[in-house]
Amino acid sequence: MSWNIIGHEWAVEQLRRSILAGSDAHAYLLSGPPGLGKAAIAMQMALALNCERSPGDPCQECRACRRIARGNHPDVRVAGMASQGAALKADEAARQKELKIATVREWQRDISLRPYEGRRRVLILHDAERLNEESSNAMLKTLEEPPDYATIILVANSSELLPTIVSRCRVIRLRPLPRRQVAEALLARNIVAEDAELLAAWSGGRVGWAIQATAQPETIAARQEHLDALMQLGGQGRGAIFRWAEQRSKEYRGGEQEAVFTWLELWQGWWRDVLLVAAGCPDSVVNIDRREDLARMAARHPIPAIHAFVGRIGAAAQQLRENGNPQLVLENMLMHMP
Ligand SMILES: [Zn+2]
Repeated sequence: MSWNIIGHEWAVEQLRRSILAGSDAHAYLLSGPPGLGKAAIAMQMALALNCERSPGDPCQECRACRRIARGNHPDVRVAGMASQGAALKADEAARQKELKIATVREWQRDISLRPYEGRRRVLILHDAERLNEESSNAMLKTLEEPPDYATIILVANSSELLPTIVSRCRVIRLRPLPRRQVAEALLARNIVAEDAELLAAWSGGRVGWAIQATAQPETIAARQEHLDALMQLGGQGRGAIFRWAEQRSKEYRGGEQEAVFTWLELWQGWWRDVLLVAAGCPDSVVNIDRREDLARMAARHPIPAIHAFVGRIGAAAQQLRENGNPQLVLENMLMHMP
């Protein structure tokens, strides 16, 4: 496979064939949870569309392939929350929630110009789920009547986009990879077997996340610390719960929303595992290094209570997204812990 993508074979094959046959679309929407490899596929599409030696099957070596991969090809333009926040201070950038109309305008600025060097002008927009109505509308006309030589690739971490946008794109919905495939990808990168198994389980099929975690041991340490803290919280009184909620709430208001959502995901994953063990499916758990704790908790709580709490954590995340008061939302969630 010349696309250098781990997994997602069906998606790569579909894109490759359409490029080879000249039946590729003018606009794509790549969607799926973060860390699946969407950005890598978007980049490989830009290569496949512009490779000088073998269009469709990028050589990774020609001038076009190398320049695109390095991010300095004049016909490939990439934007997203990262580029929007690049000129801002870190805390200001973290507080940005939406892709602004100015970002979209700048990104699509010279779409009407023919490609300078390549065959196609490729515009990649990351975080497309963060387009607000105004910036979505600014893009509609481009999506409706793109020039013949342009390919627009929207990359989104969820499917929550305006229907008017989605209906104008060929949609490729990426799914998490099987755990085995993630573990094999890590083993091929010389990660020791035990760590590969653990990260593959934790990744939930997000191979990009797993590979990034191997390069950042602090991610792994932080995950373990957070889980320890959450486990202890269960055995402590209301005071500890209020303090925890207060701390997270401060982080949330200080622009670290993603960190708070990571806590909730971790906690929800934990209770989902407890539920799996309680239901007699221990092989599917994510926290494979804490099987004893899982078994202990599964034996201690009735299944309906565990099930209800998993739902409550999801509801808390939803309330935060809908601008609920973080302290109240988090306290309320924890007060119902089994
Ligand atoms: Zn090439």
